[in-house]
Amino acid sequence: MYDPEKVKGHLHTINEHKWKVTWLCFRCGLYKQDLSKYSPIELRTGFRYYQGFRSPINAQKEVEGYSTSWLHHKGRNPHHWEYWIDNGKDGLRATPMAFNYIVEMFCDRVAASMTYMKDEYRDDSALKYFEDNLKSTVFHPDTERQIRYLLQYLADHGLEKTIKRIRFLLNRWKYTGKSGI
Ligand SMILES: [Zn+2]
Repeated sequence: MYDPEKVKGHLHTINEHKWKVTWLCFRCGLYKQDLSKYSPIELRTGFRYYQGFRSPINAQKEVEGYSTSWLHHKGRNPHHWEYWIDNGKDGLRATPMAFNYIVEMFCDRVAASMTYMKDEYRDDSALKYFEDNLKSTVFHPDTERQIRYLLQYLADHGLEKTIKRIRFLLNRWKYTGKSGI
C-alpha cells in the first residue's frame, strides 16, 4: 500500500533529523525528547508523501490543502511557533516562546537544513529559510528577535561559537528568566 522506497526514505530522513536535533540540543545543554514523528498519524504522511528534499508535510498540504499530521505534530511540540498561537477577540495572536524552546527551534531548523540540503548546507542556510518564510509565520516580536539573533550568529560565527553562545544565554535565562538578547 506504500511505496517501499518512500517508507525507507522517510524513515532514513526522520532518523537522521532526529539524531541531529538530539545531538545539537545536547551540545547546547538541552535534553530533548520528541517522538511524535514516530506516531502512526505522522508516519503515514511521511510514507505517502516522502520526497527527500523537503518535509512531506508541505507535500501533503499542497495535495490535500491541510495536514493532519502537522496538526498532530505542532500541538505536541513547543519548539514550533504554531504551538504558541492563542486566539482572542481580535483574532489569532502569538505569545512569547520560552527561551529553551527557542533554542530547540534553532536546533530543529538547523538540523532540518542539514538533513534536506546535504552538501549544499551552509552556516547561513537556516537563516535564509527563516527570512524566506517569514511572511507566512506569526512570531511574537520577542520570539522573532531571539531566533533571528541565534540564526544570524550562526551565519556570522559558525556552529561551534554559536553553541558556546547558546550555552551562555541558556544559563542566563535559567537564573534570571531573561536570555538578554
Ligand atoms: Zn518538530
